This record gives sequence, C-alpha cells and structure tokens, in this order.
Amino acid sequence: MERAVEGVCYTVTRKKVKNLNLRVTREGAVHVSAPRRVPLQEIDRFVLSHKEWISRARRRMAAQAGPGIDQLYTDEECLKIFASICSRWYPCFAAVLPQKPEIRVKEMRSRWGVCHPAKGYITLNRRLIGYPEPVIEYVVLHELVHFLHPDHQAGFHAEMAKWMPDYKERRAQLREGGYG
Ligand SMILES: [Zn+2]
Repeated sequence: MERAVEGVCYTVTRKKVKNLNLRVTREGAVHVSAPRRVPLQEIDRFVLSHKEWISRARRRMAAQAGPGIDQLYTDEECLKIFASICSRWYPCFAAVLPQKPEIRVKEMRSRWGVCHPAKGYITLNRRLIGYPEPVIEYVVLHELVHFLHPDHQAGFHAEMAKWMPDYKERRAQLREGGYG
C-alpha cells in the first residue's frame, strides 16, 4: 500500500515482523515492513522521524547509481537542499559578505557551480544532488570563496583549506563521479 507523509512517499507491506523496518531501494524508493497490529499513523510517524536518514540514504544510493538518478528530485527539492547547505556555511563569510548569496539550480553540462559575485548569486548543477552531502558542501564552499577570490590562485586555496581542511579529498570524490 502506498502512503505519503509530508512529501515522503513510501510503500507499506504488512509482514510477520516484530518491529517496523525501513529500507531505501537503489532507485530511491522507500519501503516499510510493519507488523499487522501497528496503525498507519504510527508508521507515518516512524517514517517522519527517519526523514533525515531517508534523504541521506537516497543520496548515497543516487551516488552509487550514477548519472540520471538526479531526475528523482525536482528542482525545488534540489534548491531546498543546496540552499540549506549554503545557509550553514554562510556565517563563515558574513563579515566579508554582507548579503547571503541566492542559490539557483540548473542542469549544466560542464560545470558543478558558477559564482556571480556582482549579481550576488550562485548557480549549482542539479546533478550534484546525486552526490554525498560532504561533496555538495565542497562545491557550495568553493563558490562562496569565489566571492572573495574570483580565480583559483593561492589565496583561493588558502581560504578553502581554512574552512574545509579535507577539501581536496571531497573534490576528488566529485571527479570520480565520472561526469565532471
Ligand atoms: Zn572555481
């Protein structure tokens, strides 16, 4: 049986199990197996309490599945996730960047992100949604640093290393993705 709770769609199967079990398939679909006696409202609550876990699992599956899986996400969902990551990192730059940059999402062929310092916004490639969060964070920070350093000279790398000491490892994961 199909259910939806606060934007999370899932399938419930009644089984002879003791507890509620949650599983995310390779395609990003959410399956719950539940004992017969557990009411649907309780299953909804269980799914909701695992919302973060589900989005992490979906992103992990997407990363393994490779290109194309990002089509499971709408632009709005991508934007929400990217913007929340940007909001987490912006405070590091608030002193030098009085206005929090606006995030825009676009499908791009050859770039993960573009910074538009004069216009105050960052465009991110929606395909990033298929990567683990630390990798998306790397791209967001990279574009934020471009507000201070438009090129990739020593100053840029020093700023990256200051906030994200492992940024090179994160960047390497991005390249392993095979489409950038
Ligand atoms: Zn750059």
